Amino acid sequence: MVDDLYQEIILDHSKRPRNCHSMDDANRKAEGYNPLCGDKLKLFLKIENDVVKDVSFVGSGCAISTASASLMTESLKGKSREEALKLLEKFHELLTTDTPISKDLGKLVVFCGVRDYPARVKCATLAWHTLKSALTADVPEPVVTTE
Ligand code: ZN
Repeated sequence: MVDDLYQEIILDHSKRPRNCHSMDDANRKAEGYNPLCGDKLKLFLKIENDVVKDVSFVGSGCAISTASASLMTESLKGKSREEALKLLEKFHELLTTDTPISKDLGKLVVFCGVRDYPARVKCATLAWHTLKSALTADVPEPVVTTE
């Protein structure tokens, strides 16, 4: 039953992605590409005083990658850079390890089922790898997921 609910949230976000538009006054941008599946995305961030004021994305990809980007943008608004990077770490753990699910993940727990499908992990983490590049690189390079 829980799986069905999670599935529904992922479907909803893949069909009607939130924050899916470009941003003219973004001060951080990065691009990501997952060659395994063909997912592409461009991430836009507006950071003020080290806090994510706004975040959006455009891209084309499978349901998992689109839903992940959509839910990520919803989770990031109002977070500090440090909090955003911590969330990234926890999301990565959720998908790649058997650690107990962290409450900090909120709605992002819907992706826990992806850990059973290693080929789809890259789809789910693409937006997050791109986020890392946008937050940490001086000149963000296009990201190609490798792990
Ligand atoms: Zn994909």
